[in-house]
Amino acid sequence: MTVAISVSNLQKSYASGTIALKGISLEVEQGDFFALLGPNGAGKSTFIGIVSTLVTRSGGKVRVFGRDVDTHVYQTKIDLGVVPQEINFSQFEKVGDVVRTQAGYYGLPRKLAAERSEKYLRQLGLWEKRNDRSRSLSGGMKRRMMIARALVHEPRLLILDEPTAGVDIELRRSMWDFLLEINRAGTTIILTTHYLEEAEQLCRNIAIIDEGRIIENTSMKKLLLELDSHAFILDSDATLEDEVDIDEPGLSLRKIDSHSIEAVLSGGRDINSAIAALDRLGVRIISMRNKANRLEQLFLSRLRGNGGEGN
Ligand code: ADP
Repeated sequence: MTVAISVSNLQKSYASGTIALKGISLEVEQGDFFALLGPNGAGKSTFIGIVSTLVTRSGGKVRVFGRDVDTHVYQTKIDLGVVPQEINFSQFEKVGDVVRTQAGYYGLPRKLAAERSEKYLRQLGLWEKRNDRSRSLSGGMKRRMMIARALVHEPRLLILDEPTAGVDIELRRSMWDFLLEINRAGTTIILTTHYLEEAEQLCRNIAIIDEGRIIENTSMKKLLLELDSHAFILDSDATLEDEVDIDEPGLSLRKIDSHSIEAVLSGGRDINSAIAALDRLGVRIISMRNKANRLEQLFLSRLRGNGGEGN
């Protein structure tokens, strides 16, 4: 097994006195799609900054594909493609130029640089925009352009800091599909997110970071089993006159407003049992949706150890 990233006892104190990382140890295997998940301020960007050699660490070791990043600066840069959270390109440059210039930094010959730019701009749906100034792009397009730029030298490891922040839902899906595809084709991917749903859709393995510490490092599957609980909102066509308050093993139903009921299922109970219970009460369900951020809520309550609702 090749390890794409290995960090041990990583520490970071900013000059301001903030201790952003308090000794993080972590390995990400080659080929993995890995999520670093945590609330704002947890230390995710700091971690990414250090691994991509943009932020100086205060302590610890970082190896990328087995090489110490301090002694293999050039090779580390070749191996890595980084998509930062903040916009860091010249807004006056044309889209195609931003991507081609980056290829130049990596020493790609002109022809190859042009080919690669076209390839990734096309894949990310930006080819038509190649002659537009980058500042004219929407937020989601800017982020996609930064992904194209990060991929132009075809790194083995792509690191994305909150890739879908500010990207609308439809585009988020197509970005997810794109990332899954390049991961299937062999690129190791690490992303940070504070949406558990995003990690759940994309990632095989996950580390949860909070206040500069890793509090969980496991497979997505195991985490989901652990957090085996699914919340749905069920909508009724009629006004719900009476309270709905059912609490059985694995099934809880509660009226949340005059037309909706929250259903929480666990222990393998299926949605049919919720519908059947409501049917017995004479409540007809006409639509249903996943409750947003269901896992995140669970998780934050667990994390804060308050055992209660939300955060
Ligand atoms: P996340 O990406 O998880 O939101 P960050 O790594 O950005 O977290 O931040 C971790 C902590 O470090 C926060 O308390 C943040 O305010 C602080 N921090 C981040 N960057 C800097 C900086 N350049 N100078 C001082 N403090 C910083």
